[in-house]
Amino acid sequence: MIRKEVYGAIDRLVSSSVHKEDLKLLLSLTEADEVNYLHAAACSVRNEFCKKRIALRALIEISSICTNSCRYCGLNRYNRDACRYSLTEEQILECVSYAADQGYRTVVLQSGEDNRDADSIANLIVSIKRSFPVAVTLSLGERTYEEYKEWRKTGADRYLLRIESTDELLYQSMHTDRTLSSRLKCLEDLQSLTYQTGSGIMVGFPGQTISTIADDIMFFNEKQFDMLGIGPFIPHPQTPFSGCDPGDLILTLNTLAVTRLVTRYPWMPSTTALGSLHGDHRIDGLMAGTNVIMPNFTPSHYKSQYEIYPDKQSETENEERLHLIAQKSSLSIDKGRCDSLLPRRL
Ligand code: SAM
Repeated sequence: MIRKEVYGAIDRLVSSSVHKEDLKLLLSLTEADEVNYLHAAACSVRNEFCKKRIALRALIEISSICTNSCRYCGLNRYNRDACRYSLTEEQILECVSYAADQGYRTVVLQSGEDNRDADSIANLIVSIKRSFPVAVTLSLGERTYEEYKEWRKTGADRYLLRIESTDELLYQSMHTDRTLSSRLKCLEDLQSLTYQTGSGIMVGFPGQTISTIADDIMFFNEKQFDMLGIGPFIPHPQTPFSGCDPGDLILTLNTLAVTRLVTRYPWMPSTTALGSLHGDHRIDGLMAGTNVIMPNFTPSHYKSQYEIYPDKQSETENEERLHLIAQKSSLSIDKGRCDSLLPRRL
């Protein structure tokens, strides 16, 4: 049975009337009928504003070296057991070439905060753009305005940088040597430099509440990001959060669904973390309103070394499996660039 107040809260969000109390109510749903109704509403909004498709992006994890100390992440610099690698430009170009040959028109270059020289990233972007018809998304962490500017000028199209939490104390409890204000400044810099900008959060890390998630969703709405990545927190044994529980699946899916209802247009991945949480739940993510999958094109030898959390789902995705996922979620596959759908960008 679906309660009257659940219908009311969803109706208000669908008609763009956003209230924190409604977000909290919907995030808290656990009863199957109500959860399914919420997720179905999110899918209709996705289908209306983004079309019935899954955008495929080729993910290349270019370096596991990190100078940061995020307390949840296996790449943090204090993890002496972590395997560290850094792909050369030649290796990265090989991965891009392989993805482009398979029809991919977006590559996502992700790494720890490895302080790779900004000019070498700029050269890499130029080389990619010269040889392949792909959009380039960067996810390299916090850098200076000048560096972001240089990369944008040389052809980078998009940048992913999760806010992780808009709650100052919570942010500080997760990051010992970074601040919420510097993260916000980076996101502002990226948007002002006209990057298609992505942000997001993990769901279920220690100290997070329904109320802070609702605040994060209000923030997404205010900032109008082009992309939003939301996935469950998964504890890594070599981090201070090792003994904590992983993020709850239903709460993660509700967060995706409510975010879709509120923000409508963003490209939202069914994340690798969702695919690694006691089995592959990426279809559940698609059934809760997501619309991106990022198959991993990192050379197989290095994939397991990019261990942000244990048992990361990283097998090479075959076309057959992707088509099965699409079929099960009644969506088609789109390997095109799939640029921002926000009305101000069109
Ligand atoms: N260094 C870049 C940055 O900080 O944006 C990109 C790499 S970082 C590893 C990519 C994302 O992985 C982070 O934004 C974080 O949300 C996610 N992540 C890290 N550790 C995680 C964990 N234990 N469970 C789930 N997601 C995690």
